[in-house]
Amino acid sequence: MSEKEINRKVVILGSGPAGLTAAIYASRAQLEPIVIDGPQPGGQLTITTDVENYPGFADGIMGPELMNQFRAQAERFGTEILNVWIDRVDLSERPFTLYAKESQDSDEITTLIKAETLIISTGASAKWLGVPGEEPAPVGLGGNGVSACATCDGFFFRGKEVVIVGGGDTAMEEAMFLTRFASKVSLMHRRDSFRASKIMQERVFANDKIEIMWNTGIKEILGTKEAGVTGVKIFNTQSNEESEFPTQGVFVAIGHKPNTDLFKDVLEMDETGYLKTEGRTMKTNVEGVFACGDAQDSYYRQAITAAGTGCMAAIDAERFLVEHGEAVKNTETNW
Ligand code: NDP
Repeated sequence: MSEKEINRKVVILGSGPAGLTAAIYASRAQLEPIVIDGPQPGGQLTITTDVENYPGFADGIMGPELMNQFRAQAERFGTEILNVWIDRVDLSERPFTLYAKESQDSDEITTLIKAETLIISTGASAKWLGVPGEEPAPVGLGGNGVSACATCDGFFFRGKEVVIVGGGDTAMEEAMFLTRFASKVSLMHRRDSFRASKIMQERVFANDKIEIMWNTGIKEILGTKEAGVTGVKIFNTQSNEESEFPTQGVFVAIGHKPNTDLFKDVLEMDETGYLKTEGRTMKTNVEGVFACGDAQDSYYRQAITAAGTGCMAAIDAERFLVEHGEAVKNTETNW
């Protein structure tokens, strides 16, 4: 079968706050961008609940609703959104080529997407502990009592006792959320203080359903395919003393890693995989390729900062196209 070919001035990889903000700006500049949805359309906010710190929503807004609004706004100005899996990229010359399959499991490349400029907004994904029992079922108990998303899976633990691991804002937020369903939430952290913001810590400390277990690490997640999770093998990070702790669910909330594997050995990145950009711009080391959002920002990692860098990437891409005689200057952004 011959592949379908799509040609665009601006191709945006990822549809979280960064990608969709880039799309709003690029479509308003009449660059007719295409957004590739990725495996989690809408990004990380689609698996969260209340977003209380996104400006413009005095009473907060639900994460999925916020992302629906971003999407509708991008589409209103003509952004096209495509749901395919990018298997590999060729950034050696412009137009760049993205090789797309229908889905991750498919063997066949069905579409070649040719991009004069590429904006990478592939975001970040949850990190795992890397202990036995955590692997996805059927090998381990992943999806069968082990999860990295309380808002997705908390509902299944109504009346049960669960463990959550981590000491950042995500762990605090997810522990609070889990108390809506679980009868008891044991929050295990490897140190004796949290790195989460004070306000989130205070909410956790004030919640009777949350038990905090300091200096606690996890060695293994115990259970069977039939029974699901039955417990965790834990150890004291000070004394190394081991014990078993009964539980029916394990939620891992220990941070995220950038989704940049596609660009390994092609684009400059730091040791964790965050894409490097030049100075105050969103330019990567390949001319015409820009990076924004959580794929590029290891420091702030907020929806509002991702949206901000998405805007910057779109303006940088537009400026690049104008400088190469491939677009006319847009007066709206006044650069
Ligand atoms: P963080 O990196 O802030 O925290 C990760 C936590 O997991 C740390 O406490 C860390 O421990 C622990 N950890 C990391 N690796 C391991 C491991 N292998 N085993 C055991 N524990 C481990 O990630 P978050 O996802 O919590 O937050 C990311 C960013 O998003 C932050 O900037 C945060 O403020 C923001 N955020 C904001 C929210 C809000 O405002 N509503 C909600 C959620 C996130 P240690 O402390 O010892 O390093």
